[in-house]
Amino acid sequence: MAPDEPAGAPRPCGICAMIDRIRAGNFPDLVAELPRSWLILGDAQFYRGYCVLFAKRHVTELHLMPRGEAHELLDELLAAGRAIANVVNPLKLNYECLGNQEPHVHWHVFPRAVADALRLQPIWVRPENERKVSLEDSERRALIAGLRIEVRRLLPAAHWPAA
Ligand SMILES: [Zn+2]
Repeated sequence: MAPDEPAGAPRPCGICAMIDRIRAGNFPDLVAELPRSWLILGDAQFYRGYCVLFAKRHVTELHLMPRGEAHELLDELLAAGRAIANVVNPLKLNYECLGNQEPHVHWHVFPRAVADALRLQPIWVRPENERKVSLEDSERRALIAGLRIEVRRLLPAAHWPAA
């Protein structure tokens, strides 16, 4: 918090800011818009296929969301997980719903690979500089295209802007 900011002032939300960019069509790593969420491909791709699912509603805790809406959101998370698994065939998926830094309900979905020497550890044990693997743009596009096919197969309401 900035020193001149009054105590209790709401912090700007980084995820709401990203959602604004998605809505403006200015977010190339969008995988799909779902009824209750947005699915994006994460930047750091050491865990190939790593995606983030943002709740559309700004809420700091899952239990503060209307129950029916939370259940719909969880159905979308299930579809996203299955789509990621179908595309990258991981040993295991790790789901993390933290929100300590950005208090807006979202999940990190990390595919874990057999070849990962740290596969028994939480993903954060690996140093950040090792996690920050950038894929070639063509490889990111191919990954997003594959994820879209699977997400829409599982959840026909999934959509995205035309290229
Ligand atoms: Zn937010």
